[in-house]
Amino acid sequence: MYDRDRGRDRGDRGDREMHKAQCSDCKQECEVPFKPSEDRPVYCKDCYQKHRPPRRDRY
Ligand SMILES: [Zn+2]
Repeated sequence: MYDRDRGRDRGDRGDREMHKAQCSDCKQECEVPFKPSEDRPVYCKDCYQKHRPPRRDRY
């Protein structure tokens, strides 16, 4: 089984590695499961909800 506590500090194989990032909206520090790039805004959980495309819009 997968041992979480082990790879956390040293970085494991990079499967679900979390990267520290700063939310582009509220400027809070957050962690994202992908590598943040400079030309793409990163959002924390809360802001991500706000910025994701609305689902209830139907055409
Ligand atoms: Zn935010």
